Amino acid sequence: LESLYSFMIRVRIPGGLATADQWIAFDELSKTHGNNTLKLTTRQAFQLHGIIKRRLKETMQHINETLLDTIAACGDVNRNVMCTTNEAISPLVPSAYKMAKDISAHLLPKTSAYHEIWLDKKILVDGKQDEEPIYGKTYLPRKFKIAISIPPYNDTDLFSNDIGLIAIGKGDQIEGFNIAIGGGLGMTFTEAGTYPRLGDIIGYVPYDKTIEVIEEIVKLQRDYGNRENRRKARLKYTVDRIGPSVFKDMIEEKLGYKLAKSKPYQFKTNGDLFGWKKAASGKWFLGLYIEHGRIKDSDKQSLKTGLRKIAELKKCDFRLTGNQGLVLGAIKDEDKKEIEALLKEYKIWPVGQLSGARKHALACVALNTCSLAFAEAERYLPSLMDKIEVILADNKLSNDEILIRMTGCPNGCGRPFLGEIGFVGRSLGRYNMYLGAGFSGDRLNTLYKETLSEEQILDELKVLLGKYAAEREKNERFGDFVGRVGIIQHQSKIKELE
Ligand code: SF4
Repeated sequence: LESLYSFMIRVRIPGGLATADQWIAFDELSKTHGNNTLKLTTRQAFQLHGIIKRRLKETMQHINETLLDTIAACGDVNRNVMCTTNEAISPLVPSAYKMAKDISAHLLPKTSAYHEIWLDKKILVDGKQDEEPIYGKTYLPRKFKIAISIPPYNDTDLFSNDIGLIAIGKGDQIEGFNIAIGGGLGMTFTEAGTYPRLGDIIGYVPYDKTIEVIEEIVKLQRDYGNRENRRKARLKYTVDRIGPSVFKDMIEEKLGYKLAKSKPYQFKTNGDLFGWKKAASGKWFLGLYIEHGRIKDSDKQSLKTGLRKIAELKKCDFRLTGNQGLVLGAIKDEDKKEIEALLKEYKIWPVGQLSGARKHALACVALNTCSLAFAEAERYLPSLMDKIEVILADNKLSNDEILIRMTGCPNGCGRPFLGEIGFVGRSLGRYNMYLGAGFSGDRLNTLYKETLSEEQILDELKVLLGKYAAEREKNERFGDFVGRVGIIQHQSKIKELE
């Protein structure tokens, strides 16, 4: 008898935008084929958990019927392309979304294997090998990630990507992007010379040249990336090994022209915007807090049922954010009340009741669904937050926005190294604690203490948050404070290459 294998399926959704029909289809699939929950990931994708092996193919075929797929949601290729998704924060969102979709399509593997294996299609190219014009025969040495952010919101944490694009525009059109290369957060505790790194800004590229620049960077990584040690195979190691300036010269040589100097920009936050806001188009957008991206019904709220009922109205779309959140989008004036009534009926959290720290907290799935996890994250952080909130309240910090992030291992899926307070699992119940990242995702944090138990974490936070409340300067962020007063030494901020 075969073991009861179960799988996670991750669905690629460039820019995180799903229709109401797609939401309904995934809600249904999670019920009939999965564990009756949906996970919204930090890369704006859906994850279905608990798909048993014999239903895997059938599930993939149902996903295909929704006009979505899992191609390049995993593997040594370009992954789901992220972009700022809440149209109410910028009229540039539709143009950024189009670019995210175009990049995703351009870098999609051309292989027909997916269709042959999962969709029972006949071999598409008779007797010939598939041709991969960008990836070649060997694909990339490692996964590759691209994200777009629209200032002042760095809600995709673009500097943590192999390529990050900062949208520069006028009116409702993006004119071009500042381009950052060599970001990536994963590291391995036992492998010296692995580290998180933020991208360096190498210049500015006009909108219509963006894809050709990206393609050359991907091809350079294909040709120069480390193929002997997967732990050192991401673009960040290639850039550091060759030297950022030399790597930039190599890109320009391939392009046959120099990149322009980067344009001024300013990020203020890497968090989501919550609550109702009207876009320039006249449509309404509602930013919802979803605890660590898990869509499920619980004693506290009927989140999954309520969102399904809202989808069935077919009066909004569903936009997954890079912070495991959800935006109900493109809502007409006349439909707002009906949606509000369902939110109330199903007790979907009004974000005003949450502490500033909880609203921004991120956790990866970790145990029990991720085999790489050393410790809990998604299942544990909510209860730890309950205790942290007591300390925050004691220090009158309940409304202060502080970035707290937790992962079960140092691979960095929940972007812990960009937390003002980051926890990375070392073993069951033990975490390394990092402090001092920049609030807009422009500075990594620094290791503060290792292998702390919950009791030790809370003892540390009592002292740190007490000191912050008593000694901070006006409007000073926690991450800035811990460096200024010498609790940790700050890492350097984003570099711009000449
Ligand atoms: Fe990613 Fe590690 Fe969390 Fe697994 S435990 S989801 S690999 S960060």
